[in-house]
Amino acid sequence: MAQEDIFKKLVAHCKEYGYIFPSSEIYDGLSAVYDYGQYGVELKNNIKKYWWDSMVLLNENIVGIDSAIFMHPTIWKASGHVDAFNDPLIDNKDSKKRYRADVLIEEQLAKIEDKISKEVEKARLRFGEDFDEKKFRETNQRVLANQTKIDELNARFSKAMNDNDLAGLRQIIIDNEIVCPVSGSRNWTEVRQFNLMFETEMGATSEGASKVYLRPETAQGIFVNFLNVQKTGRMKIPFGIAQIGKAFRNEIVARLFIFRMREFEQMEMQFFVQPGLELDWFRHWKEIRMKWHTSLGFGEENYRFHDHTKLAHYANAATDIEFRFPFGFREVEGIHSRTDFDLKQHQNFSGKKMQYFDPEKGESYIPYVIETSIGVDRMFLQIVSAALQEEELKKDDGTLDSRVVMRLPSSLAPVKLAVMPLVRKDGLPEIAEKIIKNLRFDFNCQYDDKDSIGRRYRRQDAIGTPYCITIDHQTIDDNSVTIRYRDSMEQERVKISQLKDIIAEKVSISGLLKKLQNE
Ligand code: ATP
Repeated sequence: MAQEDIFKKLVAHCKEYGYIFPSSEIYDGLSAVYDYGQYGVELKNNIKKYWWDSMVLLNENIVGIDSAIFMHPTIWKASGHVDAFNDPLIDNKDSKKRYRADVLIEEQLAKIEDKISKEVEKARLRFGEDFDEKKFRETNQRVLANQTKIDELNARFSKAMNDNDLAGLRQIIIDNEIVCPVSGSRNWTEVRQFNLMFETEMGATSEGASKVYLRPETAQGIFVNFLNVQKTGRMKIPFGIAQIGKAFRNEIVARLFIFRMREFEQMEMQFFVQPGLELDWFRHWKEIRMKWHTSLGFGEENYRFHDHTKLAHYANAATDIEFRFPFGFREVEGIHSRTDFDLKQHQNFSGKKMQYFDPEKGESYIPYVIETSIGVDRMFLQIVSAALQEEELKKDDGTLDSRVVMRLPSSLAPVKLAVMPLVRKDGLPEIAEKIIKNLRFDFNCQYDDKDSIGRRYRRQDAIGTPYCITIDHQTIDDNSVTIRYRDSMEQERVKISQLKDIIAEKVSISGLLKKLQNE
C-alpha cells in the first residue's frame, strides 16, 4: 500500500475508534487543532506518565514543575522569541500555496539522500553478504556526486539561515529548481519572515491592557523558576527540572495530522550543569533519551540521530531523535546544549542574579544547560503509526481473513483488558461484572457483551486492548476463564484468581521503567 494511503487509514482509524477528532468538527474544524477522544486521552496520559516517571521517579536529581502558560512579556524578549522566533515563508504565485522556505530546501536535501539510499540498497542486493557499505559509499561515483551536492547545498543553506539572508534562501530554491508540489511551477514570491507566537491582551480595558503571548515552548517557565526550585529544593548541580504542558505556535504550514499543530503539548527537561562539562552531559542525555524510545519495542532501525550542522548562535551541540513515520524519518525530540544563554539573558533583562553558588568549587557561576524537548502529540503519532497494522489471517478451513490491530505496548494501551461473557444469560454477565469490580482499581477495564465473540475480539484489537477475558459455562463450574492475547491471538485457560498477577506483570509502566535501568 502507498505510504500516503497508510497515513490516510491511520487518520481515519484514529477518528473511528475514538482516539483523535478534528477540533470543532461540527463547525467544519479548525486548522491544525485536534481533540483527543476517550481512548486518545488515555494513551496520551500513559505517554506522559512514562516520560514523567522516567525523569522524576528514576532520577533523584530531577524534579518537576507546572508553570503558567501566560508569562511576563519581557521573558519572550529575553529568550529571543519576539525578535527571532520566525519562519521564512514563501508563496507559489500559481497555486497560491504557502510554504516554509527552509522546509522546501530540507525536502530537497532528503530527496538527494533518498537517491543515495536507493543506490546503496541496489548494491546490497547485487553483492549480497560481501557488501561493504562504507567502501561503497566512499567509491561509487553516483553516490559521491550526490554527496557533494548535499554538502554544497547544506553549506549554502546553513549560511543563508545563520545570516538571516532571505534573498539567499530564495536563490537556493531557484538554483535547485525546486517546484511547488501543487502547481509544479517555479513561480515563487520573495521570502518573508513570519513570527510564530500567538498574541493576546491581558487586562480589562484596551488602554490598560498589556500584550501577552501564548507560550511557544514550556522551557522558559523552567528557566525563570531555576532559582526558586534550586533554593527551595536545596538542589545541587548537576540537577534537572522537568515540565509537561501546552505550547502554541502559529505554524505557517500545518499539516501531517498531529505532527505539526498550532496547539500542542511538550515534555521538556532542562538539566543544569557546571560549565565545561556540558558536552559530556549532552552525550549522556542523547543515550538516555534514545533508550527511552527504543524500549517501546518498535525496532531500533526505525530511529536515528540527526546531528545539527547549523547550530543556533547560543548552542554548542544539538541533535534530533528522528523516527521513521509513514512519510519518512522526521524529528520527534530535540536535545540541545544551550550553554548559559537563557539564564544569562534573563539575568540581563530582569536585573536579578541567575547564579548558582557551587559549594564544592567555592564559587558562583551561571550554569550551562542541556535540554531534552519532545512533543507529546508527535510521540503519540509515532506510537500509533508504528502500532497500527492490517494483518492477513488464515482461518481453520484454509480461507483467508484479515484483521486491523493496534499493537500498542501493553503498558501504554488505553484499555488493558476487556471482559466478555460468552452469552448474556445463565449468570455469566454477573461473573464478568464481579471480575471488573475487583480489577478496576488496578487496570482500565471494559465490559463488552454485544455481538459475536469474534467481532468483539476484532473491536478490541482495533482499539489495541492487549487482553480479552471470556467467561463461559465452564467458568461456573471451575472459576476458570479464557485469556486471549491480542498479538498472538492465542488463548489460555486460567483461574480468575490468577488474572490480576498475569496482567499486572505485563501492563505496568514500572515494567517499562525497569527496562530503562536494567538493559
Ligand atoms: P520543527 O523543526 O519540526 O518545527 P522544532 O525544531 O521547531 O520542530 P522544537 O522547538 O525543538 O521543535 O520543539 C521540541 C519538540 O516539540 C519537537 O521535537 C516536536 O516533537 C514538538 N513540536 C514542535 N513544534 C510542534 C508542532 N507545531 N506540533 C506538534 N509538536 C511540535
